[in-house]
Amino acid sequence: MTGEKARVAELRRQIAQYDYWYYVKDAPLVPDAEYDRLFRELQSLEERHPELQSPDSPTQRVGGKPLEMFAPVRHTVPMLSIRTETDISDQGAVAFDARVRKELGVDGEIEYACELKFDGLAISLRYEKGMLVQAATRGDGETGEDVTQNVRHAVRQIPLSLGDSVPEILEVRGEIYMRRDDFEKYNEEQRRLGLATLVNPRNGAAGSIRQLDPSLAARRPLKFFAYGLGEVKGWKPKTHQELLDRLEAWGFPVNDMRCLAKGASGLVEFHRRIESMRDQLPFDIDGVVYKVNSIALQESLGFVSREPRWAVAHKFPAEEQVTIVRGIDIQVGRTGKLTPVAKLEPVFVGGTTVSNATLHNEDETRRKDVRIGDRVIVRRAGDVIPEVVGVVQDIDSKRSEDGRFDLYAALNGKCPVCGSRIAREEGEADWRCTGGLFCPAQRKQALLHFASRRAMNIDGLGDKLVDQLVDAHLVDTPADLYDRNRLNLGTLSGLERMGEKSAQNLLAAIDKSRKAELARFIFALGIRNVGEATAKDLARHFGSLENLMRADEERLMEVRDVGPVVARSIVEFFSEHHNVEVIEALLDPHRGGVVLEGEAMVERTLAGKTFVLTGALTISRDVAKERLESLGAKVAGSVSRKTDYVVAGENSGSKLDRARELGVAVLDEQALLAMLEGNA
Ligand code: NAD
Repeated sequence: MTGEKARVAELRRQIAQYDYWYYVKDAPLVPDAEYDRLFRELQSLEERHPELQSPDSPTQRVGGKPLEMFAPVRHTVPMLSIRTETDISDQGAVAFDARVRKELGVDGEIEYACELKFDGLAISLRYEKGMLVQAATRGDGETGEDVTQNVRHAVRQIPLSLGDSVPEILEVRGEIYMRRDDFEKYNEEQRRLGLATLVNPRNGAAGSIRQLDPSLAARRPLKFFAYGLGEVKGWKPKTHQELLDRLEAWGFPVNDMRCLAKGASGLVEFHRRIESMRDQLPFDIDGVVYKVNSIALQESLGFVSREPRWAVAHKFPAEEQVTIVRGIDIQVGRTGKLTPVAKLEPVFVGGTTVSNATLHNEDETRRKDVRIGDRVIVRRAGDVIPEVVGVVQDIDSKRSEDGRFDLYAALNGKCPVCGSRIAREEGEADWRCTGGLFCPAQRKQALLHFASRRAMNIDGLGDKLVDQLVDAHLVDTPADLYDRNRLNLGTLSGLERMGEKSAQNLLAAIDKSRKAELARFIFALGIRNVGEATAKDLARHFGSLENLMRADEERLMEVRDVGPVVARSIVEFFSEHHNVEVIEALLDPHRGGVVLEGEAMVERTLAGKTFVLTGALTISRDVAKERLESLGAKVAGSVSRKTDYVVAGENSGSKLDRARELGVAVLDEQALLAMLEGNA
């Protein structure tokens, strides 16, 4: 018993702390599922030990204390909570229906009004003679907060006046919520500005309404659904359905997925249907609500402490749960991206058991400060991959900076799959493995790219075949494609859906690709940030693969459109010796046997010559410069005795005069082109 007493005290302390952060700060410390678990534990201890019950227990109260900065509003009709059916299976609905029938002493089917359970903030809107006079939060159920100004500013859907055909006094109750897309948009903007983001749409809605500056509230677009009544003078609906229809007719948004259901089977059907479409809804719901449709029956069922007996919330599997981080692995993606992944104590969340959850990247992991041994919140919604949302921390605890996650140190600077160096470019969130051609994790992607139409153009080498070749270890790197010890009619015929004819065609296509233009070959290497156009520019500028591989960043940046990021990617790629090994194998006449075509033709016929371009040419200056450089020439900005040729376009000015003065050879555009074509 003393054990139970202590547990009850501990639960109350913990719940009070969670309530404070949820209701007062609008910044929950734990997921609802975790809170509900503790709450239910307390409820059941109190039921089993009535002597431990106490009027100040959280089980006896609704919500949290109203904030003092808002004027208090006393609710004439209290704003209650709704009992949550603990069993999320069909049995939850069956149990509720059985309870209702038992209380009412009814054998036949009961009619229920079914609605979505919106995950937002409950609000009571008071209209007098059709004019909105007050908007109040639920607060502790008896006393709420006057948030009229914020509601007026932030929730355009709430009518300010209703005309004169409405009851003299009408309190409409409903939920203010934030759509998911508005939530995402808002957070994106906050991140851009380096400001705090919202934890979830619910807290976004609650936080906006419960803040002092109405203009700030108005920055976050909020919506509203009506679902009930408070004090009303001059009208009494007979059913819940009539109530909702009338509210809709008066101009309130009422969700159109509501419906009537008969008996437990009707409730089960509704629960299943809504659960299946939950992820497609534009807003968050955490379950459905069933209400006895007849108001007369509602009245005879009445209330227990904080909940009506005629309604129940039937939840869906929680999308967030708490579990423990057992380790942090780093996975290598198809493009070489390194993603930290938390290895978790398995937990049932979003309808399945989850034991891995993404931490996205190093910055996110550090921002959330996730460490091995931590209790974390894991989220899995719909088909989205599970993620670690944050750490459940004792709010007073301080941790040392030293223990923060450090991806580079964790991997000792090397790819966990292939051992190549890892790199992270400035301004990029992700670390990457630089062993593009060699890394097994990137193999399939690298091969597909290598073989693609604009690269080496190997007809018939599609993703299914690449999957098979790699999985059977016939091909590890692009050089293996050309190795006839590995790939031949014999080995290929062992593959699925590979007849002799297709094997022959494939081998012929591979052989044909051996003669490759330099630009295509550069593109095929799959160097990060080097697309087709850049590959062409590089080929033209450097003339040979060897020159390109030798170039440093400065030299690379002389190429049109090559900035520091592209230059660094290229240098990094060639400085990874694994990549160089693959290139050597490709070009080795006894192994890959690839011959680079453009390369042989480019002779550096203008090596050592200095050109100056002046006046208007019909070809662009950049192109002229690049082509001259690819033939080994230097292009200078001013004419001197060292200048060999001045190319004078139309309207040439002082440079032409200077050339004449110094006796430097002057070419017109025609002569330049002839020289570039090798005819001069
Ligand atoms: P509740 O929020 O689960 O249910 C009652 C509320 O449901 C109403 O006040 C109303 O706002 C809302 N609702 C939505 N759709 C409705 C509909 N169609 N008809 C009627 N009402 C509808 O219960 P509660 O007592 O208000 O609060 C408890 C909830 O708050 C639990 O889900 C709990 O997990 C969460 N909570 C979480 C923490 C935390 O730290 N994570 C702390 C406190 C409370």
